[in-house]
Amino acid sequence: MKVPFLELKPTYDSLRSEMDAAYHRVMESGWYIFGQEMEAFEAEYARSVGVRHCITVANGLEAMQLALMAAKIGPGDEVIVPSNTYIATWLAVSQVGATLVPCEPDEATYNLDPNRVEALISPQTRCILPVHLYGQTADVDALRRIADPRGILVLEDAAQSHGAECRGRQSGALGHIAGVSFYPSKNLGAFGDAGAVTTSDDALATKVRSLRNYGSKIRYHHDERGINSRLSELQCAFLRAKLPRLAEWNARRTPLAQLYLEGLQGVGDLILPHVPAWTKPVWHLFVVRTRHREALRQHLASRDVATQIHYPIPPHLSDAYGDGGWKAGEFPLAERLANEVLSLPIGPHLTEAQIIYTIEIVREYFAEGK
Ligand SMILES: *Cc1c(COP(=O)(O)O)cnc(C)c1O
Repeated sequence: MKVPFLELKPTYDSLRSEMDAAYHRVMESGWYIFGQEMEAFEAEYARSVGVRHCITVANGLEAMQLALMAAKIGPGDEVIVPSNTYIATWLAVSQVGATLVPCEPDEATYNLDPNRVEALISPQTRCILPVHLYGQTADVDALRRIADPRGILVLEDAAQSHGAECRGRQSGALGHIAGVSFYPSKNLGAFGDAGAVTTSDDALATKVRSLRNYGSKIRYHHDERGINSRLSELQCAFLRAKLPRLAEWNARRTPLAQLYLEGLQGVGDLILPHVPAWTKPVWHLFVVRTRHREALRQHLASRDVATQIHYPIPPHLSDAYGDGGWKAGEFPLAERLANEVLSLPIGPHLTEAQIIYTIEIVREYFAEGK
């Protein structure tokens, strides 16, 4: 048996007629950017998240960058970010020239720990940027209780959490504004790069709409220095075809995660994902921790089970932030996670039999006395 980490072609196979219809609709329209498909997708995605506005943009990084620009966060302002995240979260803050204030995660959930966040608040703090890592929401309600009385913006990085819930509300509708990515491998992925900003704040939405289009509301009238982060009609049409299936695809991940949670309980030194009662994850990734990562990974590979590591180098130790003044040992939890996390295959492309096989191979590795 082979267990691939990711397979995108089955999505096209299962939606071939809708995808082909979307392609022909756009081609025949003769209109390829800023048209009906974008308007329709923005309305449909906003409704699905439970916010007033969705503004499509070119990718997830620029979604967060534009959200920060709209809130006029820049040089001299501090943004609290997780020490353990994909580097895009940090880069969005760097793009606007604001100061990164990394915060160590809650060790059980790997998401921002509200108590640690509160300790990092300074008079310069303008934004808290929680990431719903691996598809499980951070405790944004607790973060809002810290942020709201101080007038601090809560910007969600919802790139991994399409459809995830926190106390009954959806990721993307929990903070003041959110950035989402539709990179092909995400739970809702386009057929190329794509992203969006979601918010119920009318003023921020108007700002983002202008900033993504050269700072212009009326053609050739430029009110401010924006960027070009427009999403094509084609990607919007493809996303419209996929959106109605998101809930079903997410629902297919849950029983697979449940199999892992039961089948890997107490095996070796594995630490399994912890899901607090108030959150409903969408299992973008199924991440375990072990001190035997490299050997386990090799053993799985030798039995045709593909794994990945999210992420092997924390942003503060990456060369990109070599000039940031951070040293090894500065964020020990993020560093330990980077050394121990291993993502097992999960997704709607997999069957229960493939997950059970993966569990057997993991158990086999630890049975050999590790
Ligand atoms: C994928 C991802 C992004 C960036 O999205 P792009 O569309 O690739 O720019 C940002 N943050 C997290 C946590 C991600 O997983």
